[in-house]
Amino acid sequence: MLQEIHNKLDELYPEMVNIRRYLHQYPEVSFQETKTAQYIADFYENLGVPYQANVGGNGVVATLKGGKPGRKIALRADFDALPIQDEKDVPYKSKVDGVMHACGHDGHTAQLLTLAKTMKTFQQDLPGTIVFLHQHAEEYAPGGAKPIIESGVLDDVDAVFGTHLWATTPFRVLQTSKDVFMAGPDRFEITLQGQGGHGGYPHQTKDAITIGSQLVSQLQQIVSRRLDPLETAVITIGQFEAGTAFNVIADKARLVGTVRYLKKDIQEQIISEMEKLIEGTCIANDITYSFNYEKGYPPLVNNSEEAELVLEAADDIDDIEIGEEVKPVMAGEDFAYYTMEKPGAFFFTGAQKEGHSYPHHHPKFDIEERAMLIAAKTLITAYFKYQEK
Ligand code: MN
Repeated sequence: MLQEIHNKLDELYPEMVNIRRYLHQYPEVSFQETKTAQYIADFYENLGVPYQANVGGNGVVATLKGGKPGRKIALRADFDALPIQDEKDVPYKSKVDGVMHACGHDGHTAQLLTLAKTMKTFQQDLPGTIVFLHQHAEEYAPGGAKPIIESGVLDDVDAVFGTHLWATTPFRVLQTSKDVFMAGPDRFEITLQGQGGHGGYPHQTKDAITIGSQLVSQLQQIVSRRLDPLETAVITIGQFEAGTAFNVIADKARLVGTVRYLKKDIQEQIISEMEKLIEGTCIANDITYSFNYEKGYPPLVNNSEEAELVLEAADDIDDIEIGEEVKPVMAGEDFAYYTMEKPGAFFFTGAQKEGHSYPHHHPKFDIEERAMLIAAKTLITAYFKYQEK
């Protein structure tokens, strides 16, 4: 039956591409993706598969109950886009100014809808129940996963699987981890209030640029000097704003950045080290400050058994050359919430487009579309393996 399902997916591949290209032209940013949600709901309506709209916000959840007994498994795809101007020169380029599917969520949606259409034709012989979980707002914390879980649609689900088309991983390669797979991404903002003045009279000022610079290098020493070297984390300051003129000492500086970590206790340690360093530096320089730390998604931790099933699925699929276990990556994903609630695994489906090496969130980002087929085949193969488990 699995081979027939794979063949049917191959047959429907042109349709999968059309769906992806349509969605690519009409992207919507996180929490505003109402037309995309409507498109997905209409698809299930036409297919005759029961669904629920407005789940936890703009989420759409369809349920296909098979004719044979078995477990209930959710397959998740996100569908939001990003506030980025599309700079690709392709016929399916975004038609919405300043908004673009620059992370491949259009492809996630297209493969899952096509998988639903495929599985509808096998419904009678299908063991168990497939929950097609279309999630809004992955890109923007607090994200869509949490309210979807809180809505209760996953309460009676046995396991959750999901994938990300990954443009920096070669096509036909599949990657996952049997433990922590993606980082917790946090955001922080520090404002230093010094005292401005004449560039020739520094002794009459409290130079926010000099103090801010000290702080930047001190913060870098949290990872290198204060964490256990066998642990891992990233502290990046991506914005440093200060000053107005060459001969004026800046009174104020604003430092904005991100912290990435893989374990909760490391996150706590970093926050407390940051507090100490910021406070100490400001006391030493006699200035005031504000420090705002926003916790983002938790680290995504896969269950080893479910990740093993994904690797076994990869082994069985001819289109996949390598299904490998890899080190965690420092990007974040709100799929993390699903594996905190239910057994499950997330994996990367290699989607690097030949001769096109733009990373995720780049204005020229694009995917190898055939990777969508691999994503769908792997998800449904893992579904069947879980039924036999
Ligand atoms: Mn993404």
